Amino acid sequence: MTTLKLGSKGAEVKTLQTALNKACPYGLTVDGVFGKKTEAAVKDFQKHNDLSVDGIAGAKTWSKLGYETADEVTPGGRTIKKIILHCSATPEGEDYSIDTIDHSHKARNFSYYIDPDTKEKHYIGYHYIIKRDGTIVRCRPENVRGCHTSNHNYDSIGICYIGGCPARSVKDWNKQGKDTRTEAQKASINKLVRELKGKYGNPEVYGHRDFAAKACPSFDARTEFKNFK
Ligand SMILES: [Zn+2]
Repeated sequence: MTTLKLGSKGAEVKTLQTALNKACPYGLTVDGVFGKKTEAAVKDFQKHNDLSVDGIAGAKTWSKLGYETADEVTPGGRTIKKIILHCSATPEGEDYSIDTIDHSHKARNFSYYIDPDTKEKHYIGYHYIIKRDGTIVRCRPENVRGCHTSNHNYDSIGICYIGGCPARSVKDWNKQGKDTRTEAQKASINKLVRELKGKYGNPEVYGHRDFAAKACPSFDARTEFKNFK
């Protein structure tokens, strides 16, 4: 399913109206036109399902209605204005597999993308993962939008390093941020950022924390990359 909002028309709007009527007797006419009544029903549904109430049927709203949303390839590539750095918020000294992160993002109702090589569905929201040994793992293709920073996915590339919290032996480790980047991770992040800056006309580098009340990525990426070349 795709994101639908006031003014959308077509078969997917009919599917949405049918699904909303099934979820709650909204009495919507299934006409394939996303008008004020459909918008009000989406808002009501969001309110009762602990979703942010914006009246837009995006991945999370569709998921609560029992449908998945695919993020599609943008032919010719996307316009990239930001590189956003994240941490996996996992304990220092531990590696996490890409599959583990993929499963946790699926459980959190992230939209999926199709792997261009294997044609399989994946849910991991980042474009790249940097493992503790510095290995750069390509996840989402760059021409598919990510699912990592609310309201900033459409024009950004998301990079996540494994770590970002103190070791498991530290009390309340999961409530604290710590810059746990290994030297190998730092070198790989720098290499990748340099490549992406060259490729996309020097986009700015941010941390997730610049857009949300979070510690992620547990260091001040904006300052660190201010004069980065
Ligand atoms: Zn993050």
